[in-house]
Amino acid sequence: MGSVQIVTTILAAAITAVAVWLAVRAVRKMVAVIRLGQPAPERFADKGARARTMLVETAGHTRMLRWGVVGAAHWFVMVGFIVLSLLVLEAYFEVVSPTGGLPLIGGLAVYGLVTEVIAVLGVVGIGVLIAIRVRNRPSRPGGRSRFTGSTMWQGYFVEAVVLAVLVMGFVIRGFKVATDHFEYPLWATPVSHAVGALLPAWPAGVSIAALVKIAISMTWLIVIALNVTMGVAWHRFLAFFNIFFKREPTRPAGSGLGALRPMTSQGKPLDFEEADPEKDQFGVAQVEQFTWKGLLDFSTCTECGRCQSQCPAWNTGKPLSPKLLVLSLRDHAYAKAPYLLAGGGKDLTGEEKATQAQLAHLDVLTLAEADKPLIGDAEAGGVIDPDVLWSCTTCGACVEQCPVDIEHVDHIVDMRRYQVLIESSFPSEAGVMLRNLENKGNPWGAPQNTREDWTKGLDFEVPRVGAADDFEYLFWVGCAGAFEDRAKKTTRAVATLLHEAGVSFAILGEGETCSGDPARRMGNEFVFQMLAQQNVETLNEAFEGREKASRKIVATCPHCFNTLGNEYGQLGGDFEVVHHTQLLAHLVSTGRLTPVQPVDGGVTYHDPCYLGRHNRVFAPPREVLGSAVNGGSGGAGSGIVEMPRNSERSFCCGAGGARMWMEEKIGKRINVDRVEEAMSTGARTVAVGCPFCSTMLNDGVNGKGAGEQVEVVDVASVLLRSVRPDAAAGSREATPTAG
Ligand code: SF4
Ligand code: SF4
Repeated sequence: MGSVQIVTTILAAAITAVAVWLAVRAVRKMVAVIRLGQPAPERFADKGARARTMLVETAGHTRMLRWGVVGAAHWFVMVGFIVLSLLVLEAYFEVVSPTGGLPLIGGLAVYGLVTEVIAVLGVVGIGVLIAIRVRNRPSRPGGRSRFTGSTMWQGYFVEAVVLAVLVMGFVIRGFKVATDHFEYPLWATPVSHAVGALLPAWPAGVSIAALVKIAISMTWLIVIALNVTMGVAWHRFLAFFNIFFKREPTRPAGSGLGALRPMTSQGKPLDFEEADPEKDQFGVAQVEQFTWKGLLDFSTCTECGRCQSQCPAWNTGKPLSPKLLVLSLRDHAYAKAPYLLAGGGKDLTGEEKATQAQLAHLDVLTLAEADKPLIGDAEAGGVIDPDVLWSCTTCGACVEQCPVDIEHVDHIVDMRRYQVLIESSFPSEAGVMLRNLENKGNPWGAPQNTREDWTKGLDFEVPRVGAADDFEYLFWVGCAGAFEDRAKKTTRAVATLLHEAGVSFAILGEGETCSGDPARRMGNEFVFQMLAQQNVETLNEAFEGREKASRKIVATCPHCFNTLGNEYGQLGGDFEVVHHTQLLAHLVSTGRLTPVQPVDGGVTYHDPCYLGRHNRVFAPPREVLGSAVNGGSGGAGSGIVEMPRNSERSFCCGAGGARMWMEEKIGKRINVDRVEEAMSTGARTVAVGCPFCSTMLNDGVNGKGAGEQVEVVDVASVLLRSVRPDAAAGSREATPTAG
């Protein structure tokens, strides 16, 4: 070992020791913070499925690849990082000796080739990511960036380190080539040989370059160890765990979509008959009341801003960005952690748990952070502003897009639960809806005995469950379908089509109440459970003696469809629920409904969030429309003019998450934004599959005074016009029809 190698070896060992010590300390701190969360025992079930999903999602980059170029570039960088670790390890042999290399595999041509190829692709990949970050930097003129609010220096730092370490790998190899100590053939390592041709034959160069490479890598480790909230770096380790522990490991995308996470206390679902607010946790009022998976979510955020770029609230000027919400919760959790780890915290009656002696060593900033209300406006110094909390439509675009499976909607609703159930603090206009749900069983407060009024004037009988001898489908009409004028037309259209196709169905009539979706999304779990239990009882009675496969329900409202199909199981109600567009698509494809008259004038389709993203029903409505537009000869999507934001990336109408019942006082109206997009397609018919979307988009069209140009109408009504133009004629809107 020469004198140069003695120095490089000592320096490499010293910086590595410091970095590893700091990294171990950081990991212990992070684990301690995450363990502050509440139990979530269900996350340990299905370990096999979890492991499979984690491997597929990470190795296949299945979620990242939906962002084409970025996904591909990130895959190469990820693989490059893994290979890079081998090359960093190799550098430790090279600081000791200029001819050093990895034992066993070092020297194999195939190792040389693989590392060479991946390093080249890694350089290209990181170059692309840097270019994308620069091009989308928040400070660029014009436009809103997905990186707005992200800690930009951290992103640039991480990317610069990756690039520098990859480049140093070629420099080390280049010095080995130049000094004739390189063991790999030209065909396997052409870039290294090309770099070597440019470098002098300086033997010490290998060890010095290796030291530089180790120094850069260890500086990275030191920086991230000193910044445990640096998700852009830590996600490389945490993402595996976050994906492994996601709520629904078998769901292909958006594990926090569909059903909401039940309300839990100490890891157990809350039973309202026995729950006690002084002993049980009602929603989340303190950051440590999230589950440990919630705290892991916050720690894993990469600050990529994909969620932000798709959020309807953020895109229309509201203060809510799902990314900024997650970052605020993360920063607060880590800043408050020393207080909590010292034994601090409030019990459920609001009393401090720690003694003064326990908290004596904490600094004033930590104590101030611990004192912050989780929800509160700027004056109250809250972590999350109420306007942020109540701007969410629970559309799920954030969850759908998040590459590391963060479950934003669950966290938002958990915070709403406490605000509604304990603080009674929510937008006052929604109080009327909640009162109507409690007193009348529907959000409009309509008399229950008018639930069947929509059947009046139909030229066939709509049987009620009990009166019907037998029925294949229970037609769940929903409150909008029963009481709201436009939605009633959809209900009538569906009933007419089912009758036309010879499907036997029956309704509950006055036995039906609201599914509870608006109450649950707003955070009023108590009202939700009250309504849901009543409905589950009624439905179980209606289907008595039937197997699950023949407990079939068809619903026109995606919110009911989602609640009945995905959430009633939590309360003992297991049913086969389909959306009407699924059933209609089946009836068309099997020839039981035959579209005869093409609907022209151009049709575009708006995906309702609770049908599309939350339940992945994208094709059936398009199949129905395709057949109607083409008079029976259409396939999925044929003849439909798609909006730029469609299917998984569809833009919310603004009504979900009980926003339908709240005023939209900040920013541009979401429904207007969506209507403008629909109108930009030039289509004269905007087809929807949800009564709330119908209301919102109709309001948007009317607000723009565009009623003469565009009609918003349900998919079922479009099909009826094609199948039974005579029956459809009476159900048309005052607005012009297509064609
Ligand atoms: S659910 Fe929708 S509205 Fe709510 S934060 Fe996510 S993207 Fe925004
Ligand atoms: S998409 Fe996920 S990882 Fe990216 S900023 Fe949003 S929450 Fe963080």
